[in-house]
Amino acid sequence: MSTALASDAGAAEASHAQDLEDVLNDLVVANRILAHEGVLDGFGHVSARHPVDSQRYFISRSRSPALVAKSDLIELRLDGRPVSDTGAKLYAERVIHEAIYRARPDVMSVCHHHAPAVVAFCIAGVEIVPVCHLGAVIGKRVPVWDSRDDFGDTDLLVRTADQADSLAAALADNWVVMMRRHGATVAGRSVRELTFRAVHLRLNAELQLQAATIGSLSPLTNGEIELSSQSNLAAAVIERIWEYWSADI
Ligand code: MN
Repeated sequence: MSTALASDAGAAEASHAQDLEDVLNDLVVANRILAHEGVLDGFGHVSARHPVDSQRYFISRSRSPALVAKSDLIELRLDGRPVSDTGAKLYAERVIHEAIYRARPDVMSVCHHHAPAVVAFCIAGVEIVPVCHLGAVIGKRVPVWDSRDDFGDTDLLVRTADQADSLAAALADNWVVMMRRHGATVAGRSVRELTFRAVHLRLNAELQLQAATIGSLSPLTNGEIELSSQSNLAAAVIERIWEYWSADI
């Protein structure tokens, strides 16, 4: 290899290593933010696809998201096999993340949670719609998945690849899927975008419920959802809210 080629290869390797480092750092911070902002509690989880190897992803070992550190992150393949055998206990519902990464090459981060304000809509069977500017990031449609449709009586946890594939099919090309009587799963093109969307899904659900008790709803139009999503998810906007959310964790 010529010196120039070796130097190019070295630069690419260093850049990949930095990308990986950035994703792992963001994933740790996302765990803390999502716990602090009332999206994750003792349960629920957030993951990130490997930035270089699309067939792998990272998720914490089974522990409280509020306490997750970099040493807790486990690297898994999209069939659920750990890249190296750590012996760590893993989240039962990690199959959700794997199915969405398999189905959606554009998704780089996933969060599954049971935020009470969102679960209220999953229980009532009422659609969550963007009712305010920042809520636009949940997208034009929030589909609902009901485990009973394909699987009958279960313990409601998504435990098998078949169940997770069914959920991913319901998500389709949207960013959020509601899970009847259970919770929600949110996707994003980066860890930070995912975090923005998951927190604002929770806030939009609270505002939709509050607003409906004092008046009638006037949700955003499809055009407003598109335009607001673009401006809300601009790098500088995400950077600013990430800084705000990071300050207290
Ligand atoms: Mn769950």
